[in-house]
Amino acid sequence: MEYRRLGKSGLQVSALSFGSWLTFGNQISDKTADELMGIAYDAGVNFFDNAEGYAEGKSEIVMGKILKSQKWDRESFVVSSKVFFGAEHKGPNRMGLSRKHVIEACNAALSRLQVDYLDLYFCHRPDKQTPIEETVWAMNTLLQQGKILYWGTSEWSASEIMEAISVAKQYHLIGPTMEQPQYNLFERQKLENEYLHLFKEHGLGTTIWSPLASGLLSGKYSSGDVKDTRLALSGLEWLKDRVMATEKLKKVEALKKLAEKMNLPVAKLALAWCLKNPNVSTMILGASKPAQLKENLTVLEVVPLLTDKVMESIEKIMGTKPVLPPF
Ligand code: NDP
Repeated sequence: MEYRRLGKSGLQVSALSFGSWLTFGNQISDKTADELMGIAYDAGVNFFDNAEGYAEGKSEIVMGKILKSQKWDRESFVVSSKVFFGAEHKGPNRMGLSRKHVIEACNAALSRLQVDYLDLYFCHRPDKQTPIEETVWAMNTLLQQGKILYWGTSEWSASEIMEAISVAKQYHLIGPTMEQPQYNLFERQKLENEYLHLFKEHGLGTTIWSPLASGLLSGKYSSGDVKDTRLALSGLEWLKDRVMATEKLKKVEALKKLAEKMNLPVAKLALAWCLKNPNVSTMILGASKPAQLKENLTVLEVVPLLTDKVMESIEKIMGTKPVLPPF
């Protein structure tokens, strides 16, 4: 396993990490979740990603039980939660980024995950209704209390992150260390364009999500069959529409041909492409089956195969490179 700094912070995270969205407490059994975490940990994964909103808190409960029963040294792993969407939807103060919810959600995540502190705590989305000062102060309070070690954002715009950094500077508080954006061959705008200034000037770290665009980049949807995948879960019709777009499927087919020439599964080519970007601190893998995770965990060996020529071929197929400003 390779370990990378989380931006300019002192923390080292495994280049490959593991997340529980849609799977833990939902798509897979607790036994499979336990098996998957074990496979990841044994391969050197040290970061496990979670959120209050995943399976309405059940994902954290499942992960908490596994962390407890595996008896791994607390120093050997990094665990996260995220606040915004709420675990329960009963009344106005159980979501968002108010001081009340940020602090209550952290306490609830600690108890569900059965840990004394969260290594990483994310604002899962920006909250347009709460003053940014209130959220930054609340995060700083949790840091001072030792309940979280680093805080960050997820899917915030560069200007929102910049505002949080400025507020933290103004009041001598600790600002955001990392952002969790979607990053894959279809979604590149934030990581390859919008955030460049934040990486260069502020050392922002990233924990990127959906590197396979929800499985699309594994090439398995070419037949149109979604049986036994997340796209068959009820309530995820919006995701199915997004993934099963004809244009996208065509590009994946072409990518698959390139991968075949290289003797690789297309999933590994797509994952290695994400890892090649030095602004990726860690890539969060998702898996519902042990075989998927085992395959994905061998992706580091593929990165050196991505020569300039291969990268060019990928660009030609995808046509998704963001257009940068002229200077
Ligand atoms: P991916 O895009 O990599 O999708 C993972 C899914 O793709 C798996 O669950 C599996 O789904 C399928 N898959 C994985 N590997 C293979 C393979 N080798 N061959 C075929 N199919 C494969 O990542 P996720 O969307 O799961 O995101 C990863 C993590 O990122 C999440 O767990 C979560 O921690 C985080 N996240 C954060 C978000 C945020 O807003 N901050 C939003 C979303 C995710 P299937 O069961 O369908 O086969």
